[in-house]
Amino acid sequence: MNTNTVEFDTLITGATVVDGSGAKRSKADVGIKRDRIAAIGDLCETKAASRIDASGRIVAPGFIDAHTHDDRAVLSTPQMAAKVSQGVTTVVTGNCGVSLAPLVDCDPPPPLNLLGGRTWFRFSSMGEYVDEVRNNPPALNMAMLCGHSTLRAGVMDRLDRPASAKEIGLMTQRLEEALESGCIGMSTGLAYPPAFNAPTDEVVELAACVARHGGIYTTHMRNEREGVVDSVRETLEIGERANVPVVISHHKCCGKENFGLTKKTLPLIAEARKRQQVNLDVYPYTASSTVLLADWVGGAEKVLVTWSEPHPECAGRLFEEIRGEWGASVESAAERLQPAGAIYYQMDEADLRRVLAFEDAMIGSDGLPHDAHPHPRLWGTFPRVLGHYAREQKLFPLEQAVRRMTSVPASVFGLKDRGTLREGAYADLVVFDPDAIIDAATFESPTVTSPGIEMVIVNGRPVWQHGDGTDARPGRVLSRAA
Ligand SMILES: [Zn+2]
Repeated sequence: MNTNTVEFDTLITGATVVDGSGAKRSKADVGIKRDRIAAIGDLCETKAASRIDASGRIVAPGFIDAHTHDDRAVLSTPQMAAKVSQGVTTVVTGNCGVSLAPLVDCDPPPPLNLLGGRTWFRFSSMGEYVDEVRNNPPALNMAMLCGHSTLRAGVMDRLDRPASAKEIGLMTQRLEEALESGCIGMSTGLAYPPAFNAPTDEVVELAACVARHGGIYTTHMRNEREGVVDSVRETLEIGERANVPVVISHHKCCGKENFGLTKKTLPLIAEARKRQQVNLDVYPYTASSTVLLADWVGGAEKVLVTWSEPHPECAGRLFEEIRGEWGASVESAAERLQPAGAIYYQMDEADLRRVLAFEDAMIGSDGLPHDAHPHPRLWGTFPRVLGHYAREQKLFPLEQAVRRMTSVPASVFGLKDRGTLREGAYADLVVFDPDAIIDAATFESPTVTSPGIEMVIVNGRPVWQHGDGTDARPGRVLSRAA
């Protein structure tokens, strides 16, 4: 059919629209022309090149994964099945201080190695990385953060100390290049060895550079255990002194003795929201996942190994079992497995619910796409919030769940005309069955697609349908609107 003779390229009919704003659902047809939503309303008489019957289904804005480590995945697995199969149409990359650029000639120290080994760190500038993404685009959109630990690894001979004034100057130059090449801000991972000894002042100086470029600051805070309240204070201080909007990454309280501390952190954040821009993201599980660090093993109820370079056969096994078989101490078993990753069972369901229900909390998977046996959050986060927490547990209405995945992150990250279903917005959409949607990925079988997601459209083009990815790769690098 010649598209000039039709009104729409794609017409979704009979849908129940959840527009992302939190407003109550309503029945409507949705017409798409090129990469935009052309009309919403009673459109069933209008001609369209392709029609999709969505009776009994929800049509919502595509989900924005507020917290990812997909910097390399968009290059090595551009179909991005783990994400588009959940209805995700945009990922925010470069979190926790870790971005793939700018860094070359480096054996990436943990946790930078979550993205891959030395050969993957081959972009001397963010511009080079963006060129490669644009030449070989993924199925979904991305908004990039520049990682503080990546900057440190690029300019410092050792990372267990504060950066000198000269090193901060060099990092600032690289950060400026990254922001001018399209990054929407900077992330830190102050809990990790490469940045733990970076003082608040160092972060404030770099965050002020981010502020000058209209960017945002996200942080895996220095302490998510007994020091979590102080860490929230430090984060708020950085936001205030640098005059930059902040996002607290994967907010949680780890370790049994720290359960319930969200009763202190959340009111602190709510109070700060009256005077500064601060938000948080959260994933819907009570186990965390990152690199294997011996120091972190003790605080967890149990630890599951997700990958190990020298011992790939240990992926998916309990650390304690491996340690027992080896007759080794925690330290020496962890040492023998390095480099390695792990899942730590160490959070409380009540804290998790409090954070999920917090005003304007965003959903971020924090999925680790290169782990041999990944945490199920990589494939299950968004359907789990919609199916388990909204439908089954009734923690909030579906409209609120969708809002936390769409218009809230679009507004926090400055993604213009995204995250909302209205005429003129980009046609990033997901069609799902509200009664069937649920996560299927488990800790035992983590790389499983979720039932209930029927169609996913990015910039007007289907990237997921009939339970499988299409060949389309319409993803774009999104910049931050002022
Ligand atoms: Zn993190």
